[in-house]
Amino acid sequence: METRDTQPLLSVVIPFYNEAGGIHGLFSRLTPALDALGVPWEAVCVNDGSRDATLQELILTARADPRIKVIDLSRNFGKEKAMSAGLAQAKGDVVVPMDADLQHPPEAIADMLVKWREGYDVVYAVRDQRTGQGWLEKLFAKAFYWCFDNLSDVPLPREVGDFRLMDRKVIDAVNHMPERSRFMKGIFAWVGFRQTGILYHQEERTVGASKFNFMHLLRFAFDGLTSFSNFPLRVWGVIGACVSGLAFFYICIRIVRTLIWGIDVPGYESTLVSVLFLGGVQLLSLGILGDYLGRVFDEVKGRPLYIIREIYSWPETSPEPPKD
Ligand code: UDP
Ligand code: MG
Repeated sequence: METRDTQPLLSVVIPFYNEAGGIHGLFSRLTPALDALGVPWEAVCVNDGSRDATLQELILTARADPRIKVIDLSRNFGKEKAMSAGLAQAKGDVVVPMDADLQHPPEAIADMLVKWREGYDVVYAVRDQRTGQGWLEKLFAKAFYWCFDNLSDVPLPREVGDFRLMDRKVIDAVNHMPERSRFMKGIFAWVGFRQTGILYHQEERTVGASKFNFMHLLRFAFDGLTSFSNFPLRVWGVIGACVSGLAFFYICIRIVRTLIWGIDVPGYESTLVSVLFLGGVQLLSLGILGDYLGRVFDEVKGRPLYIIREIYSWPETSPEPPKD
């Protein structure tokens, strides 16, 4: 693996949704941490249709520091799309997406850069423990990772979010993925390249509350599974074959019984049970088909992933032209 000894431009991409209260705290920690790296940097802040003073706060911060750029989306598109917007605008040779709530410590970027210099293209941050989640959420997370590993062709590294450092090559690959359903964790894993991890400690959110409740996370997990695997779609063929096999077997038994012992009228329960069971199975499979069809419809419509309302950036005051 060839090492890198250049000074890269570092882009940090941060999506913001109703985070006004935390912006001051974020930049008072982020700016010194990035300055300490000794490389040129820019921060691409995406305002994902916030309804509070996030945009005004961001603009104020960006005015004071030309390295900070603000992308204002036309409405709330969701974190994954906001991040895609930021990644498309980032100019860096290395890019780090991170959350606005300081759950991703900016100091960890130093360790990531070290690994990047060693020659890795993706350095993801692995959290040492999950914070702010109950046992039910942890159980669901385990089940999700188990399903994802077994059903899709790319394994997801455990306890890894979007916080990672990526080389320009990787970002270009991600930007060229056209799909509308943006399960970023899956996309980052799918593109491949030389990947490695570093450990970090995830802190509690300092200001505000998480934007994702349990239902959101469940939907997100289902999105991830269906975007990276066709198994839920195909499994009904297997289930159908099994049920038909069993039914055929049962029909044979009934025919033989009828031939030997004649017709016996009771049979209400078995009829009811099989009708209800099969009805349930059919509705479930229709639901899954519907979900994939909806996804195909979304892709076919070919709408843009997000719409940018305005980009705010203040160029660095250019130096005085040299006198002759
Ligand atoms: N976020 C966003 N759009 C949304 C929801 C969240 O841009 O619709 C941003 C949010 O401002 C934060 C990041 O995504 O910077 C992670 O959100 P949060 O901390 O609520 O998620 P959690 O850490 O609980 O997974
Ligand atoms: Mg958070």
